[in-house]
Amino acid sequence: MRALRTALLLTLALAPTLRAQQPQSQSIVLRAARILDGKGGTLADRAIVIRHGRIAEITAPPGGRGDVTYELSGLTVLPGLIDTHVHIGWHFDRDGKTHRREANETPQQIMLYGVENAYITLMSGVTTVQSLGAPEDADLRDWIARGAIPGPRIVTSLRSINESTGSPDSIRQVVRELARAGADVIKIFASASIRDGGAPTMSPEQVQAACGEAKAQGLRSVVHAHGPESARRSAEAGCTTIEHGALLDRQTLEVMGRHGMYFDPNLDLVFRNYFEHKAQFLGVGNYTEEGFAHMERAMPLALNVFKQALTVPGLKVVFGTDGVAGAHGRNYQELVYRMQKGGQQPMKAIVSATSLAAASLGLADRIGAIAAGMEADIIALDGDPLEDPTAVGRVVFVMKGGKVYKNVPARRTATR
Ligand SMILES: [Zn+2]
Ligand SMILES: [Zn+2]
Repeated sequence: MRALRTALLLTLALAPTLRAQQPQSQSIVLRAARILDGKGGTLADRAIVIRHGRIAEITAPPGGRGDVTYELSGLTVLPGLIDTHVHIGWHFDRDGKTHRREANETPQQIMLYGVENAYITLMSGVTTVQSLGAPEDADLRDWIARGAIPGPRIVTSLRSINESTGSPDSIRQVVRELARAGADVIKIFASASIRDGGAPTMSPEQVQAACGEAKAQGLRSVVHAHGPESARRSAEAGCTTIEHGALLDRQTLEVMGRHGMYFDPNLDLVFRNYFEHKAQFLGVGNYTEEGFAHMERAMPLALNVFKQALTVPGLKVVFGTDGVAGAHGRNYQELVYRMQKGGQQPMKAIVSATSLAAASLGLADRIGAIAAGMEADIIALDGDPLEDPTAVGRVVFVMKGGKVYKNVPARRTATR
């Protein structure tokens, strides 16, 4: 028994992080009148044929026979959404406060909150998340990948690196340890939290050690950076992505663009969620009145940075929310805000949350598009987000890895 368990654990440990869902022998056909392919294209009147968890072919109707056929013709069909920045385990404790170490929760309870968040996230149409990141993410990721627990595909940093990780040599050592422990990405805090003013914290040498060693280990590096200095250091160190960036100027955005970086500004949901749940965060760590005042001031700045960023050549603006406790399953609200208030063209917003987000995770060949050979991560909306951005919040069908997790009738709204 013990040997069996060891073997099982070993198998899980060795399994690729994002292996496909359990293959299905049957074929599934989705009939769709309107498809956004995730790469900026649209298709009309197609049958998407799915076998073994992947899109086998896309044909003109009737599209052959499937063992199971789903009629999605009154809907908009698109790839599952990808949120490149969440904290999948963050939750409110039983007393309503955001999770604290001293909450005396069991590891099992902490894990079950993660399971709950994963379920809510998947049902909202988000089929992949990057969690930045906690040690608990690893088991959640692996158990979801086995196919029995409903949740999005998870890539995780497991932990993060900051100025107190130590000398460049110590930082390289920690990056190697994280790679061995199965981290999919390295998360770096190169600036303080916006609640503490967002000033740079890590030296250029520390940032170089972190992103340089990540690259040597074949991993991407994403950097929490609010201001110009920390973002510039990250660009020069070859880091992959800048997170937040509420205090950036155009010049720095252009440097990031020249380095071909990804930029994930979090301009709405993270702030709004904090304001809505202020009492539940206040008094924990840097969630102080002063910290909240910093966030109030940062919100309009973040919106302006986003508008600027959309016009910077070479800069790849991706979708991410920094979703914490209270924000899981509402990821789409950030996307709606980017379209309605940030002025992003709806098609570009959809691409930023599908194929571009997939590319930012190094997964462009597997997810983020509706095309033959891709994993069948497909959702359907009641409405057309190109005409009505709020349609991304009306997810009525969710398939991940060829398995249907949600299929509810569309509401008949007066506007349709
Ligand atoms: Zn807790
Ligand atoms: Zn975060």
